[in-house]
Amino acid sequence: MEPKVWQEMPPGGIILEAGSSRGVETGSWRVSRPVVDWPRCVHCMICWAFCPDSAFLVQEMKLVDVDLDHCKGCGICAVECPRQCIAMATETDVAAAA
Ligand code: SF4
Ligand code: SF4
Repeated sequence: MEPKVWQEMPPGGIILEAGSSRGVETGSWRVSRPVVDWPRCVHCMICWAFCPDSAFLVQEMKLVDVDLDHCKGCGICAVECPRQCIAMATETDVAAAA
């Protein structure tokens, strides 16, 4: 999706197209990311339901990964996980560990 100049944007910056978030990589400005302790995950899908960016990837009714192109690092999933198996790691720490 091409970025718009301000003269091309609708008043108030409102979003006119449904599902437009798929074309916006909100992960580019993330400062922290969810790290899932996969062996403890029971695939209840609560994190998937709460994620505002639909960043959890699901296959055959199981959580399989996080789409980091779209995760914006809000941390809602880590708060809502009933098993406390999602931790938020700063991008700085992730880069240092790589
Ligand atoms: S909320 Fe926690 S236990 Fe449930 S699917 Fe997500 S990571 Fe797994
Ligand atoms: S940190 Fe926020 S955007 Fe990223 S997966 Fe969790 S709920 Fe979704």
